[in-house]
Amino acid sequence: MDFVLPAPVKEALGRLEAAGYAAYAVGGCVRDHVLGMEPHDYDICTSAAPQEMQKVFQGERTIETGIKHGTLTVLLSGMPLEITTFRVDGEYLDGRHPSSVRFADRVEDDLSRRDFTINAMAYSPKTGLVDPFGGQADCKRGVIRCVGEAEQRFGEDALRILRALRFSARLGFPIEEATARAAHAGRDMLQKISRERIAAELTGTLMGAHCAQVLADFPDVLCAAIPDLEALTRSDRWPHTLRTLTFAPQDPTLRWAALLMEAPRPDRFDLPYEILQGLKMPTKLCETVRKLTPIENRSFRKGLPSIRWLLMRLGPEQAEQMLLLLEADMLALHPASSEKAIRKEYRQNREELHRLLDENVCYSLSQLAVNGQDMAKAGLRGPQIGQTLNRLLLQVVMNELPNEREALLNAIHQENEDNLRGL
Ligand code: ATP
Ligand code: MG
Repeated sequence: MDFVLPAPVKEALGRLEAAGYAAYAVGGCVRDHVLGMEPHDYDICTSAAPQEMQKVFQGERTIETGIKHGTLTVLLSGMPLEITTFRVDGEYLDGRHPSSVRFADRVEDDLSRRDFTINAMAYSPKTGLVDPFGGQADCKRGVIRCVGEAEQRFGEDALRILRALRFSARLGFPIEEATARAAHAGRDMLQKISRERIAAELTGTLMGAHCAQVLADFPDVLCAAIPDLEALTRSDRWPHTLRTLTFAPQDPTLRWAALLMEAPRPDRFDLPYEILQGLKMPTKLCETVRKLTPIENRSFRKGLPSIRWLLMRLGPEQAEQMLLLLEADMLALHPASSEKAIRKEYRQNREELHRLLDENVCYSLSQLAVNGQDMAKAGLRGPQIGQTLNRLLLQVVMNELPNEREALLNAIHQENEDNLRGL
């Protein structure tokens, strides 16, 4: 198998070899090459120790990413290359971190500590593909399989359970039987893993083109990571959630919103937000999902409130996201024969949204043709002012009143008179 490696990668391998060390491209980039996909970055492994690497790349820009663990990042022609000394992990005492890291002499040793066969291949132009665990065959066959004994490997590092789900969701490869069994059996070990690492792997899983299939097969693992999803995954809303996920655009916020849209319960309407906060997700994502998931937003699909109403509730950016989410929700609700019509309808909805924004349509208090001072002049006081402004905004948004000063002031005076007459 011949790979076309980018010039900086070839150069790094060449320089290490010229200095007498073994060096390979390794891991994800080799897997992607074997699968005929474009790697998004290149990792290199080498027999050179960190200090020896530093000598080889003297004069180049380097970042000491993890010297202790044997990793140095080198910038060659603007390309960042993570170069790591061959290593084997010591014993895992806590199910998270190896208690020690030992440098190794042979690339095969380094490959043996890696998680899945498809991730445990190395390549150099000099030696060709190094594939001691049948990674190439598993790429061809299309399976996710642990290197070695699955149960033991998940016992060493339970995060690998979620990594299996992530690669399966991304590549559409089923998880091989023994590996799947060990994933189910070992799911409770996820409690030992930090929330941030869990969140990163779950986001990766949700972003996969095949995430619905994976979550359908591993709801127990999902619930081990997020116990608050137990009720949802056991409910009749779960199949719909999975279908919605398959139609939701591949965007982290929208995928999380699709997963959590059916999660709120009468006693815990803020559950999506609580879950994401618990996972220590970025504040912006937590807040956005919180605004996208309430059930009220979905009354839009029944055709009642207008796009302006969504704009008022959510603002321009989130109104657009909401339309995408509603489209996924609708596609999930209806048979494939309606797909074309639904997609067309929502394309038009988005166009309408853009048109309204281009026309500078009023959807917020700051755009309203009257303000608080006008209300005070009209004799309103305290909380009445805010309430009246909001009511006027809603009337403008619903097209019941034009956004014109005269008309709005008239409406207030009319109201005042009605009030005085005791209506
Ligand atoms: P991606 O395209 O998502 O970056 P990747 O294969 O490069 O895929 P990374 O998470 O970047 O995945 O990890 C790089 C490599 O390190 C993996 O291919 C795998 O060989 C190894 N690896 C990463 N995490 C683990 C782990 N928890 N246990 C064992 N090996 C791991
Ligand atoms: Mg990577």
